[in-house]
Amino acid sequence: MFGKGLRKNKVDVFLFMTYNTFGIVLLSETKDSVGMRTKMDNDSFDKYGLSDEILQAIHSLGYDIPTEVQSRVIPYALEKKDLVVRSQTGSGKTASYGIPICELVDWLENKPQVLILTPTRELAVQVQEEITNIGRLKRIKATALYGKHPFSLQKTDLKQKTHVVVGTPGRVFDHIEKGTLSLKKISYLVIDEADEMLNMGFIDQVEAIIRELPKERVTMLFSATLPKAVKNLSLKFMKTPIDIEMKSEGISVDKIEHIQYRVTEDQKFSLLTNVSMIENPDSCIIFCGTRERVDTLHHELSALGYPCNKIHGNMEQEDRTKTMNAFKRGSFRYLIATDVAARGIDIENITLIINYDIPLKKEGYVHRTGRTGRAGLGGKAVTFVTAREEHYMDEIIEYLGIEIPRMELPGQEEISNKRSDFSAKLLEKPVIKKPKSDALNKQIMTLRFNGGKKKKLRATNFVGVISNIEGVTAEDIGIITVTDSLTFIEILNGKGPKVLKALAGITICGKGLKVSEFHKK
Ligand code: AMP
Repeated sequence: MFGKGLRKNKVDVFLFMTYNTFGIVLLSETKDSVGMRTKMDNDSFDKYGLSDEILQAIHSLGYDIPTEVQSRVIPYALEKKDLVVRSQTGSGKTASYGIPICELVDWLENKPQVLILTPTRELAVQVQEEITNIGRLKRIKATALYGKHPFSLQKTDLKQKTHVVVGTPGRVFDHIEKGTLSLKKISYLVIDEADEMLNMGFIDQVEAIIRELPKERVTMLFSATLPKAVKNLSLKFMKTPIDIEMKSEGISVDKIEHIQYRVTEDQKFSLLTNVSMIENPDSCIIFCGTRERVDTLHHELSALGYPCNKIHGNMEQEDRTKTMNAFKRGSFRYLIATDVAARGIDIENITLIINYDIPLKKEGYVHRTGRTGRAGLGGKAVTFVTAREEHYMDEIIEYLGIEIPRMELPGQEEISNKRSDFSAKLLEKPVIKKPKSDALNKQIMTLRFNGGKKKKLRATNFVGVISNIEGVTAEDIGIITVTDSLTFIEILNGKGPKVLKALAGITICGKGLKVSEFHKK
């Protein structure tokens, strides 16, 4: 039964099955199979028997070869096994459950079938985007539920056809209590970053949510580490889950250079400017211990002309999202952040991490520095340590089992040599990166109609009219969102302009409607 997806490939992988003390099934590979596994890792997604809509979308996203976590998780997830996966972000973890979930959901069902719980709003949005991209051509509708965002808008969204709900525990629970999120058809539950849920004090809320879910379901739990409370969760609510541990993960010493400086509080700011001058990074995150420190540093670096912005938990969600997106696109080079930005956030090409304030938890060091050295690229992690904080650094070093050499403060000569390059780069115009989903979206145009529920219009009315246009079929229609006074319809396969032209001045159900192209802000 195990490894069905693997056998398709006609490769015999030997898996030993044992049960650990927590009742979790442990699978370990023989030495020989590790070699084969590598061979399969270099394989393509075609071997999983995925539908064309999903395959085409993942290829458009540029995912040609499954990552390690994907090649281990996808076959079991497609077989609807409960899984406990020890894996970190940056490994392609989201797609490892996103791909099978998009494959398995029943498009025709209107009520949510999948619930994904994440510890932070940023991660919820990111996961929702990834699911939307993977499921784009299958027209999978994913909705994100998180705090500091109008409840009423989410409520309206949930009234539409929704396949996947991604949310933070607090807001998801609010919707459950108010009866605005139907759980009847939930057949897949994903708990992402379970250990972080625990750190943030959400674990009881997660439990409370699970108790409300149908018992007949598949549960997948992802966590970088497995503290006792997380193991207990898997024991209580999962059916002999398969334990998948990504051995090659953890702290990266091959790809990331770790160094530390011993400083006084007063020296920190000048060291920061010196380090940034020497390193002159394209993209850098500076981590601070508190929101106030972030505000102050942002103010000071802005005054020096650094292309920088900030993110912390005290900011409005909309501003946080805007800032993260702008940073991802490369609109500015220095992001000053609290740990809010440390977990789960997927930003490519960060070459430098500066721990302006040392993380107080050793795990925090892993999460922060994990923002660099992603996707096989190199990176550098620099930590400032005051005398009072030395024991934190000792703990980190012991926990990771790596050397983090203490460097001499940079000398004047080195700094002067780099000054002109640094100043020149400050004046460079940023090169804005295109999002990964661009190729996918090129084929898609969203149309906006100036009528919705109040005019008694329904999705089927639009489908009828659009699929009657010559050369257009129902397959070319993507996600439809009908709000009170507007309707948004995605037209796929590059047929948007044709539909837009054909529908100019259209009457639907006796109502004259204006249609225009809609650009998401
Ligand atoms: P995650 O671990 O889910 O945060 O993913 C890290 C990054 O890897 C994201 O930018 C994904 O879009 C990207 N990614 C996921 N799967 C693949 C793949 N098979 N090939 C290339 N990139 C991928």
